[in-house]
Amino acid sequence: MSLVGLTATPDPGPGTVAELRELHALTADADGGAERLAWTPGWVTARNWLTARLDEVPVPHERDEAGNLWATLAGAEDGAVVVGSHLDAVPGGGWLDGTLGVLAGLAAIRELARGPRTRRSVSLVDWADEEGARFGHSLLGSSAAAGTLDVDRVAALRDRDGRRLADVLAEHGVDVATMTRSRDRLAGVRAYAELHIEQGPVLDAAEVGLGVVSGTLGVERHEFVFTGRAVHAGGTPMELRHDALAAAARLALAVREIAREHGGVATCGRIDADPGVATAVAGEATVLVDLRHAHAPALGAMLRDARAAAGEIASAERVSASDRPLHRTAPLTFDADLLALAHDAATTATGAPVPTLASGPLHDAAAVAATGIPVAMLFVRSLGGVSHTRAEDSRADDLAAGVRALALLTRALAER
Ligand SMILES: [Zn+2]
Repeated sequence: MSLVGLTATPDPGPGTVAELRELHALTADADGGAERLAWTPGWVTARNWLTARLDEVPVPHERDEAGNLWATLAGAEDGAVVVGSHLDAVPGGGWLDGTLGVLAGLAAIRELARGPRTRRSVSLVDWADEEGARFGHSLLGSSAAAGTLDVDRVAALRDRDGRRLADVLAEHGVDVATMTRSRDRLAGVRAYAELHIEQGPVLDAAEVGLGVVSGTLGVERHEFVFTGRAVHAGGTPMELRHDALAAAARLALAVREIAREHGGVATCGRIDADPGVATAVAGEATVLVDLRHAHAPALGAMLRDARAAAGEIASAERVSASDRPLHRTAPLTFDADLLALAHDAATTATGAPVPTLASGPLHDAAAVAATGIPVAMLFVRSLGGVSHTRAEDSRADDLAAGVRALALLTRALAER
């Protein structure tokens, strides 16, 4: 893959860093955390800010059936290139997760709009509800567009207040039954590129500002439920208990060993116990288990081992165990040609060679890659590897280099 089409451009980086700060100031909560949970007023505010910037370019924009926002510069020939990410954030999240990729895509579009018409059309997409922080389903908008969304299953999902996903989306003009019609948007797409912060410590430890992503880890996220018997904490001798919370706690420790054995990662991010008081043995405990690995067979083995561990723990604690899948994503390896082009763009933008790394967190790019569309992804160093909190941060010069690299990559893809 040659670097045809990559030329020196004015640096759009510093302006985008200033816009990232402006958007964060507009949508931050009182503690400085992001308040852009999907399908809430803060998210709508962020989107309105974006559409105002698109109007200034100017570039036409519209929402698709899944609530994803698209802006497209028409090209001279058939075929399109898509760049983007997501404006939604976890509650109290940071200023860069998702927003960086959308605003860098905006910068790329803005720059291309100033020049002659490109060979391919170039679209910016802001995917709806990437985080899944409210209903527990990540990559909602991008998986709808990819045609991989199980509509019946997601429609019934509820948030912590018991509200149904289908009802909440309807308030935002999205009919769950027709969400997958957004698939048409990816017809004729030749390449997808996304810039994102790393959300891990690898680049920071290597002391480099940018990296090229080789692919994403597969995910098996399951809800395990242990059912025992709720009894009085004082009146029940230890040997007569059926303690569901003790079983959940043992599973949380067991999955760590399973991850180490298979070279993957495993997390129990939440345990809910019922009745959830100090004076009763828990009759039921629900534990969320998130398993990730770069290779499908090893990921399958991790899930088998986690289920076996849950069964053994249940019999030791004299409770019953069940589990149901919440989310599944297969491991992905990104397109080799685009990987090389992304390397060239990142090396040109930083003036130094950049490393290749796999992504642990999920990204919309993975949903797009699953359709067979070639995908390229660039990471910007996360200071301390911290993300999904208001402490999330990156150096301004790293962010600017990432924006520059995405602009170079977008131009190269648009002229291929
Ligand atoms: Zn993100």
